[in-house]
Amino acid sequence: MKLSELTVYAEGEFRNYDDAKIGLLTHGLQYGTGCFEGIRGYWVPADRELYLVQLREHFERLAISAKILLMKMPHSVDELMEITSNLCARNRFESDTYVRPCMFKSAEDVGVRLHNVPEAFAIVAIPFTHYLDAAGGVAAGISSWRRADDSAAPPRAKITGLYVNSALAKSEAIANGFDEAILLSHDGHVAEGSAENIFLVKNGVLLTPDPSQNVLEGCTRRAIIDIAKREFGLEVVERAIDRSELYGAEEIFFTGTAVGIVYVRSVDRRDVADGRIGPVTQKLASFYERLVRGNEPKYKELLTPVYAGRAVATA
Ligand code: PMP
Repeated sequence: MKLSELTVYAEGEFRNYDDAKIGLLTHGLQYGTGCFEGIRGYWVPADRELYLVQLREHFERLAISAKILLMKMPHSVDELMEITSNLCARNRFESDTYVRPCMFKSAEDVGVRLHNVPEAFAIVAIPFTHYLDAAGGVAAGISSWRRADDSAAPPRAKITGLYVNSALAKSEAIANGFDEAILLSHDGHVAEGSAENIFLVKNGVLLTPDPSQNVLEGCTRRAIIDIAKREFGLEVVERAIDRSELYGAEEIFFTGTAVGIVYVRSVDRRDVADGRIGPVTQKLASFYERLVRGNEPKYKELLTPVYAGRAVATA
């Protein structure tokens, strides 16, 4: 689909993608003073329905990011959920979808700051193409770039400018022959991937860095913690994790909206166990795959159906 065929939400209304532009001096572009979300929609042909996953949780996180950046959300979370569903319906998507809401400082002048700057809000939704081709697992390498620290720029907020940290790490990983980077925090503990949270299995227990380890508190991370406990009776421990614990892990996997759940085949060229997907990862990944396609009734509240009861709007 060509971008020029898309309907987007910008400046309080639905517009054509080409009619929603920003100027070269925009603060959000020049200084990275913006925040955003990445949300996925799964198209289920049998239901003729597009399910948006954890729409509420994503907008709640956006509200926290916005508050950190001294921004005022233009709409309530409920309104944003309705606008997003409407946007997808207007685009008549019948495929997996990726939704990108963003807020940014929109002044076009010189002078970095957060205060006394106008703000803009937009939502773009596009048909989704796969983010990581991960059928055979992911070869990960520890990045020489450390995760930004909360005391410098908070990774807990999904801030546009912070993604230079992820981009440096990702490109270094690819240049070194890996598929993905694992970033350590300033004190050497495992933080996360360039755009994913990380989990380890050790003695059958699920481990993941706790929220004080300079991670983005992922919506998928939260769902997987709940599923692991409620559906599989697994013990889940959130704590600081050493780099060397990765090498002896029974299983490692990444979670994120774009990637879903992908297993890590190796870390720093050391195979994780035998390099194949492990049983815990396997069962969590298949449960999650069923959940996002509407096949786990207990978790339906995590899904927002776009077309339910909605006549397809004309753009
Ligand atoms: N960490 C980072 C740095 C990310 O960009 C993402 C993707 N939003 C995640 C973790 C995973 O978060 P979520 O499950 O909410 O997509």
